[in-house]
Amino acid sequence: MLIKTDQDTLQSYLSDASNMPGGSADIILIPETQAELREALIECTHKKIPMTLAGAGTGLTGARVPCGGAVISTERLTRIVSIDPNTQRAVVEPGVRLRDFQVAVEEHGLLYPPDPTERSAAMGGTVACNSSGARTFKYGATRAFVERLRVFLTNGDELVLRRGETYAHGNTLSLTSTSGTTYTLKLPAITMPDTKHVAGYFVKPNMDAIDLFIGSEGTLGAIAEIEVRLIPQPERIIAGVIFFDSFDGVMDFVEAARAASFATRAQPSGLGIDARALEYFDYHALNFVRSEYSSIPSTAVAAVWFEQEVSDATEEQLLERWYELISTHTALGDDAWFAITEKAQQELRAFRHAIPAKAYERIRELNQRKIGTDMAVPDSKFRQLYDFYIEEFTAAQLTYIIFGHIGNSHVHANIFTSSPEEFERAKAVYHRCVLKALELGGTISAEHGVGKIKRAYLQNMYGTEAVIQFAAMKRTLDPDGLLGRGTLFSEELLASIPLERLALCTTDE
Ligand SMILES: Cc1cc2nc3c(=O)[nH]c(=O)nc-3n(C[C@H](O)[C@H](O)[C@H](O)COP(=O)(O)OP(=O)(O)OC[C@H]3O[C@@H](n4cnc5c(N)ncnc54)[C@H](O)[C@@H]3O)c2cc1C
Repeated sequence: MLIKTDQDTLQSYLSDASNMPGGSADIILIPETQAELREALIECTHKKIPMTLAGAGTGLTGARVPCGGAVISTERLTRIVSIDPNTQRAVVEPGVRLRDFQVAVEEHGLLYPPDPTERSAAMGGTVACNSSGARTFKYGATRAFVERLRVFLTNGDELVLRRGETYAHGNTLSLTSTSGTTYTLKLPAITMPDTKHVAGYFVKPNMDAIDLFIGSEGTLGAIAEIEVRLIPQPERIIAGVIFFDSFDGVMDFVEAARAASFATRAQPSGLGIDARALEYFDYHALNFVRSEYSSIPSTAVAAVWFEQEVSDATEEQLLERWYELISTHTALGDDAWFAITEKAQQELRAFRHAIPAKAYERIRELNQRKIGTDMAVPDSKFRQLYDFYIEEFTAAQLTYIIFGHIGNSHVHANIFTSSPEEFERAKAVYHRCVLKALELGGTISAEHGVGKIKRAYLQNMYGTEAVIQFAAMKRTLDPDGLLGRGTLFSEELLASIPLERLALCTTDE
């Protein structure tokens, strides 16, 4: 195990891509094996040292920003244990970078569909955040591909959770560690929204136990090993960035492409428009990168990037279908960037990545904490939410860009502020946007998670009682509340859980 305490090294573990200030830590522990990861947890628990698990630090909610104590970094746990083309399964350690893993599986003719735009993320971080990305429109989030997790609790107890093996009984979930201790959790009776969603713990009657740990944001245990499902690589892909000359045109196009994709997936033959990615860029997002992409048409008010998997036999016919759909909704069809080769498709993905990456740089330059929407609503409510954003941003005279996963009715509006007064105005607008998304049946977070910067909104979403029950679940697995301090729950809330609530949901054997 590497142990670091010098100030220069400490500094690089005190933040993440949210640019949240105030991180502090006394020591960095860098285990080189899974056994050392377990030892680090036991040691900190024994000494009652708060600990924060760190992946690559690309998270956008301050979840990896430590509130004192130790940072336990997974950066040396980088073994790809196996990739089996026969079973289409792979096993990795949590520090493996998503990019390296995707390249490795592609060498076996396989695809790992989860693709949060930032491919430098570590696999453990993507599971802890249940990350999504452009391909989530077709394939779902990381959760859909996680088959087995090896998790260490703070006391060193090991849980091996295989999908399909352990289920809750109604709202009671019992987890038995390899050493024979049973932890019994009482699940709050909440209903998760019917959208892409990651806020708070995944909780459902009769749920699969593995789902509790996916998206738990480093608060319940350390993910030490991950087994995922893979799929065969598609034969070919067609892709394009389409520019639109009217706002109604782009919204109608998205609705038509979404409806066509759902219809194709429901057919037995499955031949027709079936986007695997439908991503949006508003006028300001296009302007934001115009200096690097001079062929963006000057009259474009918005753009959509799509990808679809095809075969040699279907490619031409499907391209025709996309041309028809495009020409019905925009006069800028001839300005579209189509990509048939892998190289050209990579360039479109780089264009997609350039926008959030530049936004991240901009908030760092402005020395501003990130204010970015991550709400999703049911498809039928999306235009209402989008119109609300525009009305609010315009009335408050804010500078913003909007981009993201419009296929899932989930876009990121990033607000840039240059004074404390403007920052406060932006926060107030963001607050109203969150409440609007909730009123429309949506979620406070579709993919980035709650972390530290959005935890107050968990109570808006589920009510105080449900959040107290979430906290009681955490205290059952981490009685001293040492892991991921400040994430999901304030320290005060976590400490305030009365003992009788814990007694209700803990039975150690
Ligand atoms: C430019 C850019 C674009 C992005 N686009 C997307 C996107 O499209 N979709 C999306 O979903 N996200 C996106 N993100 C966010 C980010 O990439 C993801 O949240 C990512 O999954 C976090 O992984 P990480 O390794 O960086 O985790 P970190 O930031 O290091 O940690 C995140 C959380 O995971 C916990 N954690 C880390 N490792 C473990 C472990 N082994 N066990 C338990 N908990 C652990 C940490 O404690 C923390 O709570 C983007 C980020 C950037 C900067």
